[in-house]
Amino acid sequence: MTTNDKNILESSIQYVKAVGPKRAESFESIGIKTIRDLLFYFPSKHLDRSTTLTIGKAYSYLVDGYEGEVTIIAEVVNKEKRRYGKREIMKVTLKDSTGSFECVWFQGAKYIYDIFQEGKTYAVSGKPTRSKYRDMQFIHPDYDRISQDETKDYLNTGKIIPFYRIPQKLKSHNLGDFSLRKIVHNAVSKYADLLPETLPENIVREKDLLKINEAVKNVHFPLDKESYNKALKRFKFEEIFYLELLIALRKYRYKSTLPGIAMKINNNVIKKFLEFLPFKLTQSQRKVLREIALDMKTPQPMNRLLQGDVGSGKTIVSLIAMIIAADNGYQSVMMAPTEILADQHYKNISKMLNDFTNKNKLEPIHVSLLIGGQSKKDRTKVLKEIETGEAKIIIGTHALFEEKVSFNNLGLMIVDEQHRFGVEQRGKLLKKGKVPDVIVMSATPIPRTLSMTVYADLDISVIKELPKGRKKIKTVLRNGSKLLDIYKYIVDKAKEGIQSFIVYPLVEDSEKLELKSAETYYNNLTNTFFKNIKVGLLHGRMSWQEKEDVMLQYKAHKFDVLISTTVIEVGIDIPNANIILINDAHRFGLSQLHQLRGRVGRSEKQAYCILVTDNKNIKFNLKEDIRIEYLSATQLNMYKSSIRLNSMVKYSDGFKLAEVDLKLRGPGDIFGTKQSGLPDLVFIDIVNDTDIIEDAKGIAFRLIKDDIKLEKEKNNLIRQQLKNNYSSHFFYSKIA
Ligand code: ADP
Ligand code: MG
Repeated sequence: MTTNDKNILESSIQYVKAVGPKRAESFESIGIKTIRDLLFYFPSKHLDRSTTLTIGKAYSYLVDGYEGEVTIIAEVVNKEKRRYGKREIMKVTLKDSTGSFECVWFQGAKYIYDIFQEGKTYAVSGKPTRSKYRDMQFIHPDYDRISQDETKDYLNTGKIIPFYRIPQKLKSHNLGDFSLRKIVHNAVSKYADLLPETLPENIVREKDLLKINEAVKNVHFPLDKESYNKALKRFKFEEIFYLELLIALRKYRYKSTLPGIAMKINNNVIKKFLEFLPFKLTQSQRKVLREIALDMKTPQPMNRLLQGDVGSGKTIVSLIAMIIAADNGYQSVMMAPTEILADQHYKNISKMLNDFTNKNKLEPIHVSLLIGGQSKKDRTKVLKEIETGEAKIIIGTHALFEEKVSFNNLGLMIVDEQHRFGVEQRGKLLKKGKVPDVIVMSATPIPRTLSMTVYADLDISVIKELPKGRKKIKTVLRNGSKLLDIYKYIVDKAKEGIQSFIVYPLVEDSEKLELKSAETYYNNLTNTFFKNIKVGLLHGRMSWQEKEDVMLQYKAHKFDVLISTTVIEVGIDIPNANIILINDAHRFGLSQLHQLRGRVGRSEKQAYCILVTDNKNIKFNLKEDIRIEYLSATQLNMYKSSIRLNSMVKYSDGFKLAEVDLKLRGPGDIFGTKQSGLPDLVFIDIVNDTDIIEDAKGIAFRLIKDDIKLEKEKNNLIRQQLKNNYSSHFFYSKIA
């Protein structure tokens, strides 16, 4: 590219034919300042003129069984709003010289009513159906008003026509679909060829991508659907490629530039500990332990995600890593998301280590607990132990890190049950000196597309199997009317010595009238159905000492039933509890349900998960053929809840459930994508573009591995692009 080309592309939009200074001002007000900006103002959609049919033709296709989408351009002859009970329905009838058809909306009738004007022409796109009253009907179709001068343009040209978002500011300056399309067309035909290529040429060639100028042309004015998709693919690839380069830089630079700790692995101690354990590690646990030990041995800082389904035994693996650190004279910290989980870890780990070191006549390993709500005296004492190095293992809640804690010589950080937490928070702990190793543990599996993007900078270890002898948890979905039977079942089981959890969703103040809380139920049930068994209550507003007390009693089997809010959601380990009843189950997310279910099935006994809902909209035996486009927002929500609940019954595999969840939630803020500090994705669909992501990741990671500093001549273009466009996303070092 010559400097001249660059100057032209960067010059004001006013020089584009049909713009001029006045219109340029309104473009500028929506952020389109230069010619380049306009070239990259991509259409929000296209109308495919190549599938535009007359009404007669569309009808005959429909009769022949054609099931695809069609577009019809026709004139409105009638519109009416009708009220059915609470609901308003809007119908519009359109005609052309070959016939007429009807469009129906069950939602937004008011809004639609104002849009359609009798006597005006519209393009309607969608899948037609045959109805009782009309030969041909569209339900909730897409539509566009077509202006008079455009109608001819449409009917005479056989193209795919772009539509742009037209903010009010443009509309008020007389810029409509037609004029904007013209202006973009002028810019594209004159200036697109001046655009410099922004991807390395060999990649464009090897991946058979469109060059940038061809891609820009085809994104606006494609000849057919295929060329549009090809153009889009290029922008998708480019977007994810640069993102993957950033992630690869983050990963390799982290490892190569920050000073880590090289620990010695004393096999003797590990062996003794394994012999001390009442069970044998699974093969998966051993493999993961080897991976972790190897990382601890190398001088580069470890950055590892330890993934394993609920109950797979992650804690013990992380404990062995902490023993290795202690053996090397380093402190470890373990962070848990809740106080009761921190407390549970503290109790189990300190007892286990105490027994272990006593038995083997080893030096004791001092464990300290640091959580909110401790007395000032305890807190000061613990902080001191941490500072002097007396505390070898420190267990606390994540909140631990919001405050000033000065470690004596931190060597290892374990983060339990929180996805990205540790990786981002570590920054806060990084002082001068050596960087501690980090293990983030999570039961929520990461779908493949996310492990290739947001998590691609972490090394991943997976515990693939559950300890031997575990039975699949039986999960059922029941209506609230069955509760009496369920209570009876729980009482019967209590008499056999089996403990149960009963969970209620958190109740917000505004809902108090409709929904009963754990406390209310506790009061009711202990006076009625559970009169003759022992019941405990646990909720978030208790102090941690109270919570601890209840948990200890439950663990010691002082209660048969624990009625609780979701405070028991993660990590709690009570192997003798084999039944969990989850009330108002439709109100929980999928990973939350899976986590809750994971509280049982932690021994060799058969466990049960009973999901209960009273909601009338929940389908108990979901059929796949629901047309979601007919559903109201509330119904759609319930439909999603139905899928979640039915999936829980069907699948026990957390990985499968995570995939379902990703599909239901879409590519929004899932699994901490937002906290990852990476740029937003505009083109890439993180759920469906797996192949493109995989491709781009492979190339980007190889490239950075080969040239961490991006100083090779062949990578000049990439270095320049990163510098120009992504400089705010560099993580640990700058690009020169
Ligand atoms: P999670 O991976 O969900 O954090 P935990 O670490 O809490 O699981 O382990 C679940 C239960 O399984 C605990 O009671 C633990 O002692 C036990 N456990 C862990 N590893 C094994 C094993 N290899 N064999 C038998 N039981 C095990
Ligand atoms: Mg756990």
